[in-house]
Amino acid sequence: MAAVDFPPSVQRLIALLKGMPGIGPRGAERLALWLLKQGQARRMPLADTLARLDEQVILCDACGFYLERGEPCALCEGKDRDRSVLCVVEEAPDVLRLERSGGYRGLYHVLGGRLSPLDNITPAELRVGELLERLKTLETREVILALGADVEGEATAAYLADLLRGSGIEVTRLAQGMPAGGGLDHVDEITIQRALLGRRLFSAGS
Ligand SMILES: [Zn+2]
Repeated sequence: MAAVDFPPSVQRLIALLKGMPGIGPRGAERLALWLLKQGQARRMPLADTLARLDEQVILCDACGFYLERGEPCALCEGKDRDRSVLCVVEEAPDVLRLERSGGYRGLYHVLGGRLSPLDNITPAELRVGELLERLKTLETREVILALGADVEGEATAAYLADLLRGSGIEVTRLAQGMPAGGGLDHVDEITIQRALLGRRLFSAGS
């Protein structure tokens, strides 16, 4: 006799939840049963938000940060931004870490990852071409590479600095206080602020 399990629809919900960040098999089951108990009125806003996510949330063509469709990008269009500095980060959430540190008010460019030959992440997979295109139109004085201090982060920084050689743009790198492994998501705001203040020249751009 087959072992009794949840009805297929509940099993499907559990399967969809399982594997989400921080959610293991037990957590997925707990969450599915909690959702089941919530009733339609509590579940619908969640279902609705999920269903509209792709239609509503896009990436800004310029900086690569999330944007509500139809809204201007506060980072690219903001009147108070220092347009002479452009900070390159690996992932979109890194932008918020720098913003929340309060130590930076320039422009951003999200690469969408970092170079990793082992994972087949080459410059073509990242927003490198977009970066070079933007730099042609922006009057950038300094590019800050706010990339992870690990091997991939260093390789990506070296690659970008090389590309910008001869552009006349100064390239700096966050260094001070940054941990040797991982990206900005492991760093608190004070450390980011100090790392911004203590950034070091990586390439004079000439
Ligand atoms: Zn933008």
